[in-house]
Amino acid sequence: MWIRTDLALVLPPEIRETILKLNSKGYEAYVVGGAVRDAFLQVPCGDFDIATSASFDELAAVFPQLQKIGAAFGVGLLTFSSGFQIEIATFRKEDGILDHRHPATVTHGTLQDDAGRRDFTINALYYDLKQGRVFDAHQGCVDLQKKIIRTVGDPRIRFKEDALRLLRAVRFAARFGFELDPDLVHSAREQGRLLKKISQERIRDELGRMLIHGSRTRALVLLDHLHLIPYVFPEIENARREDRKVWERTLRAIDAVRESAHQFGFAEWVAVLLSPLIRTHPLEDRERQLRIVLKHHKIPVEPTERIVFYVLESPKFRSVFGMRDAKILRWVQHPHFLRLAEVHRVEAVATDGNLAGYEFALSLMHQFRNQPVVTPLLTGDDLIGLGFQPGPKFSAILDEVHDLFLEKKLETKEQAMSWVIDRWGEAL
Ligand code: ATP
Ligand code: MG
Repeated sequence: MWIRTDLALVLPPEIRETILKLNSKGYEAYVVGGAVRDAFLQVPCGDFDIATSASFDELAAVFPQLQKIGAAFGVGLLTFSSGFQIEIATFRKEDGILDHRHPATVTHGTLQDDAGRRDFTINALYYDLKQGRVFDAHQGCVDLQKKIIRTVGDPRIRFKEDALRLLRAVRFAARFGFELDPDLVHSAREQGRLLKKISQERIRDELGRMLIHGSRTRALVLLDHLHLIPYVFPEIENARREDRKVWERTLRAIDAVRESAHQFGFAEWVAVLLSPLIRTHPLEDRERQLRIVLKHHKIPVEPTERIVFYVLESPKFRSVFGMRDAKILRWVQHPHFLRLAEVHRVEAVATDGNLAGYEFALSLMHQFRNQPVVTPLLTGDDLIGLGFQPGPKFSAILDEVHDLFLEKKLETKEQAMSWVIDRWGEAL
């Protein structure tokens, strides 16, 4: 169970201090999970978790500043004056019947119990700082060498306990380029529907982690391989049942993004992911459909608006040749224009390959880039001053005023005000 290794984990001083302090009080304390796995794989590690034999009360006696975390049993958060934070968890054990109506009770356990609760063998490794050895009760080190993701224990039972593990398996396999254990694949294919019991927020966070990582195409392919698409992207599943090409286009578009050149974040990746699906709807219904999908996935307001912007603006590259100059100017000066252009480019690459609009718009952007951004003649406050109620019409009115200003058809604020009254006065 204990393996001697020459693994020398580079630990932040706060982690060393915390472990040594617990050891000096007679408690076992180890670095556990992702940090040990990542050290073996020689990849950078995000956060360090500590598992200890001390109970929560014992921990709190050693660290008076320890904060309890949520409802989780025996997990505390230590915050150092530097701002550095460490999660410390007491060894835990699950008792009770594992079905959905009778959730297991979690109690204080042994190191062995704690390892048995971990999701995958490669995440069930404990590093003993003092003796430089690793506790490995489930052959995690062998699986790391074999590059395989395997659950601790029977996958059927482990997925039933927590179906989010289905997605975590995909994420780790994609991220590290590992294979999935055949038994895991088999039970995942049978148990995808368990994801219906998982909150959409937890699913969203897992999918988000998959999407922002460089291994996202493989993650999507693996989700499909495990037959999980109907549960994670039911909308895509429905659309591709009608037209198989929707999924092919999705993968092709995702793959075509030139990552180094564009700072894509969550919103941009979601926009690329959903564009082929949304394009299956008539133009006038796309915004509504997109908002339904985003709401279902519990996407917060800020990324939602950004995603709506990308998906709805992207087809406009195809009509850029007929666009008014002022409109183009305003468009290419938009702070997210370059990312929008990339969202459009990959969509074009994945469909008909027609990049004429993209290239034309980009050349205009370079031409206009050095022109100063013109301060609009009117603002929302001016419209309120005229007696308009803030609402969806606001931006339409302001955009129109701005276009006319750029085209020199309106030159002063007074002219703009009287134009608004003439044109929109009835809406008052
Ligand atoms: P990452 O690099 O993504 O943070 P990680 O392995 O550290 O990977 P965390 O979500 O930070 O993952 O969880 C820390 C550890 O807690 C895991 O390594 C695993 O041992 C355990 N764990 C996390 N989620 C689960 C789960 N759903 N079921 C069982 N064990 C889990
Ligand atoms: Mg982690």
